[in-house]
Amino acid sequence: MSDWISLAASQSYPAGTLYVVATPIGNVADLSLRALHVLGLADAVACEDTRNTGQLLSRVGLQRPLVAVHEHNEREAAGRIAERLAAGERIAYVSDAGTPGISDPGARLVEAVRAAGHPVVPLPGPSAAVAALSVAGDLLDAGAGRFTFAGFLPPKPKARAEAIARLAGLDHAWVCYEAPHRIADTLAALAAGLPGERRLLVGRELTKLFEDIAVMPVAQAPDWLAADPNRAKGEFVLVVEGAGSAAADGLPDAEAQRVLSLLLAELPAKRAAKLAAAITGAQTGALYQLALAQRAGDADD
Ligand code: SAM
Repeated sequence: MSDWISLAASQSYPAGTLYVVATPIGNVADLSLRALHVLGLADAVACEDTRNTGQLLSRVGLQRPLVAVHEHNEREAAGRIAERLAAGERIAYVSDAGTPGISDPGARLVEAVRAAGHPVVPLPGPSAAVAALSVAGDLLDAGAGRFTFAGFLPPKPKARAEAIARLAGLDHAWVCYEAPHRIADTLAALAAGLPGERRLLVGRELTKLFEDIAVMPVAQAPDWLAADPNRAKGEFVLVVEGAGSAAADGLPDAEAQRVLSLLLAELPAKRAAKLAAAITGAQTGALYQLALAQRAGDADD
């Protein structure tokens, strides 16, 4: 037994347990020693896509029976997995990439298996959001290390502008995922809906050959993307700086945004912003910017 295997195997991995295993977000060498060990030990590997996981396993020299558990069959598949656990099997669950349950299936399986009385054990590892936050520096520090995970922003312009308006008032950083076919629209929406100097980290293709990490004021993001056609390719994670202490100084919080949205349904943007400021104590200028972003979203729909 080589040294690394004994390191991973020194812990016990009880039978009748579901192991939720994080897998690489690009570089296969990010698969942890314990993940490798448990995948080898599992009686079956439940996964989102059997072809994808089959390829991952064969790259690390493993061959295990695969069971498809995806968004559309998660509940029924969970029942069958619970039966196998009851029979004393070890089952590993992996999503296509990164940590299961994080903008990925897995939560329902975990819930069903735990409800059936079987232990569920995490094997931590890569996640694009955490990787991006780990290199966000001041963007994260300005909010005392706190962050909000926003998943994927809504694809429709109006819902996206509203989501950005809600997130804009957070006093700490927030993280979201984006696909290449939407990155241009999302950066444009962020530039329209946030104060221009707010810093943004764009993490593209993390851990892969064309990895790119750039930090810029959000107002510059659309031009940054347009400056090189290659920049729109690949997978994206975005970290947006929080409003920081500005939030406490009158930038709109969630309640101010709610009041603004209600008033905007009845009134012109300027009037709605003024009244929302009078009611909530938030800054009229910031509310007006949000109102304009929301109206722009309405017009796009
Ligand atoms: N469960 C995964 C995790 O823990 O990060 C996320 C799965 S979600 C379906 C896939 C999205 O994560 C991609 O569309 C992209 O936004 C982000 N992502 C995944 N891998 C990435 C990478 N290598 N670089 C940047 N973003 C990535």
